[in-house]
Amino acid sequence: MKKRILLLAGGQSGEHEVSLMSARSVLAALPRDQFDVTPVVISKQGRWLPPTGTQRALESGEAPTGGDLVLHRVASAEGYDAVFPLLHGPMGEDGTIQGLLTLAGIPFVGSGVLGSAVSMDKVMTKQVLASAGVPQVEWRLALRREWRDQPAAVEARAAELGFPLFVKPANLGSSVGISKVSRAQYLAPALDLAFSLDRRVILEAMTSHKPREVEVGILGNDAPVASPVGELSFDAEFYDYETKYTEGRAEMHIPARLPREVAEQVRETALRAFRALDCAGLARVDFFYVEETGELYLNEVNTMPGFTTTSMYPKLFEAAGISYSELVTRLVTLALEER
Ligand code: ATP
Ligand code: MG
Ligand code: MG
Ligand code: MG
Repeated sequence: MKKRILLLAGGQSGEHEVSLMSARSVLAALPRDQFDVTPVVISKQGRWLPPTGTQRALESGEAPTGGDLVLHRVASAEGYDAVFPLLHGPMGEDGTIQGLLTLAGIPFVGSGVLGSAVSMDKVMTKQVLASAGVPQVEWRLALRREWRDQPAAVEARAAELGFPLFVKPANLGSSVGISKVSRAQYLAPALDLAFSLDRRVILEAMTSHKPREVEVGILGNDAPVASPVGELSFDAEFYDYETKYTEGRAEMHIPARLPREVAEQVRETALRAFRALDCAGLARVDFFYVEETGELYLNEVNTMPGFTTTSMYPKLFEAAGISYSELVTRLVTLALEER
């Protein structure tokens, strides 16, 4: 019997377009002799589009309006064996959809409510991983209300970290809303931007030198495995949205050009983080490696990483001998597995 899969894409976050790109690749790759796949695109306003609207959105690459209230669709989703929530960012990668699917009793690809919610929030991730002994850069939390009512207190927190520093919405991805702040006078616009996207903002110390950026994929549920380590190189101040998604701006190196013991440490630390955060199915764990000093810091955990055929996560597993279509098949199998 073929498994009936509901593939969710789009969504309300700043990563709507990125999700649709990923979904096109997954849709093309799920083997049709094993799966009956129904894609449903969620508009930027959070409405679930019917098949015609979905088809149009997949072709045009966006879905600004239209669709039904979520709950109508979830009721009919009981006809599916599993859901692939290929959504990035808030209302998709953060436990909200996972909660809805859990309530509806439908198995789904990836982490559950807890792992998704904690991993999405950069502050919660840092707190949990600190207690697991994972090395991370210095950081401070600021709330929107504090920035509004006591800006000097927020500025003092930034000063403790020193410049340059990074300002990030705590719950986002694709570098949306992230600024590298080189001096105090640029702090306010960076905070305004981040707070326009999130109630919680994280201030992060920069590594002592410009770091090398290495990433590793994790696959599995309670017995996860790590992929080879990959590295990204690019000519930009940091790995911002444009550098991420403009063809030819960044280069992927698989395996990363790292001493063997560093690569091993990356893999081992990523597995420890995956377990500490109660992740499931998949995650891409991002690190900073400071070549000059040998320091290695975990940056973040992405529970639904970019998933086009040229994205880092599938490329990492391809290097381990798992093709893209085998990988998506494996993910659905993991969703259906008893834990
Ligand atoms: P993703 O698309 O991987 O989900 P994201 O939006 O969650 O990304 P981060 O990975 O936290 O954002 O940061 C984006 C980029 O900013 C990093 O890849 C790196 O280039 C730069 N960066 C972020 N924090 C730091 C830091 N503390 N020190 C140096 N560079 C940093
Ligand atoms: Mg991220
Ligand atoms: Mg992400
Ligand atoms: Mg990242």
